[in-house]
Amino acid sequence: MSLENKFSLYREKRLSGLWIHYNLIKPLLSNLPKNIFKTSIADYSENETPIHKIEVGTGSIKILFWSQMHGDESTATKSIFDIFNFIQAEGSSYKPLIELLTKCTLVFIPMLNPDGALAYTRENAKKIDLNRDAIKQKSKESRLLYSIVKDFKPNFAFNLHDQTSYYNVANTDKVATLSFLSPAADATQKLTDSRKKAMSIIVKMHQSLQNYIPNQIGRYSDTFCKSCFGDTIQMMNFPTILIESGYYPGDYHREKTREFHFIALMSALFAIASEKLPTYKAYFEIPLNEKLFYDTRFDNSIHNNIKTSLAVRYIYEIKNGKLVKKIDSSETIFGDSLKGKLFHRIINANTKDNLDIS
Ligand SMILES: [Zn+2]
Repeated sequence: MSLENKFSLYREKRLSGLWIHYNLIKPLLSNLPKNIFKTSIADYSENETPIHKIEVGTGSIKILFWSQMHGDESTATKSIFDIFNFIQAEGSSYKPLIELLTKCTLVFIPMLNPDGALAYTRENAKKIDLNRDAIKQKSKESRLLYSIVKDFKPNFAFNLHDQTSYYNVANTDKVATLSFLSPAADATQKLTDSRKKAMSIIVKMHQSLQNYIPNQIGRYSDTFCKSCFGDTIQMMNFPTILIESGYYPGDYHREKTREFHFIALMSALFAIASEKLPTYKAYFEIPLNEKLFYDTRFDNSIHNNIKTSLAVRYIYEIKNGKLVKKIDSSETIFGDSLKGKLFHRIINANTKDNLDIS
């Protein structure tokens, strides 16, 4: 049975949409069977919300995953719970899963930044971007992640994020639905063993998605980012893989991307367990990302008394207890600036745009 089928069987239905916060995952965590999953509170966030750590498997290959270090990036959290369902149902009957759980120990931090998740912000409660806090470690959540990495010493570390709908695959008009990076370990971007291992995982995930989104996978530039966690952990010689879940046409809720994420992660894990990882070289054949997409182009708009097209990008915020989408006015472009840009949707300016994302 394909991973696509497994996903449809085990998709965690109680989690959907973009706004995934602690109160939604709390009951799911307490329902995880204790004979399979070792669940503990690793620490508390700045606002005293528990940050959970879930361990499963008994093998010597150690794999770490953390999601929602940016609170408003929830796709990976959803697919982590899909993976928990899969393990729970078939961990002792489906051969590849049995092999995975015997050869590997998996540790998940499914919501590193619960305060940001609740407020639907990138930053934590102290307005710190955790992924720029790897060196200074001014926030509790950053210190926690660093100490987990140091103690666990992962053979593979999965740094799970979401990217905006603005990314296209370079030199094409295709959206980048998933993007990958094996972060640099220093400013020279030298190919260390750790980077090569991360690259081979990415090559495997890229292969596994060819039947689904062959031209919709991008690669981030590997410019060294000293204060970023991925680069810092790579520097510690723990192979680190960045996955950015993005937009799939028509899927603002990132439910389709969640499926691709599940398939990519599971195929990587099975390849690690069966020691069948490809070589890293094809990593460099994955095209880079560009940022040319706008969410909506409105034709026949009036701007400064001239009829023109304008294009907008959306951002999200919590309003009256609901997640709503609004236009990011700092990103709106007019007229000639639209040349060479890409648009997810083109409508007439007279048409009322539906700003409700549900
Ligand atoms: Zn992020």
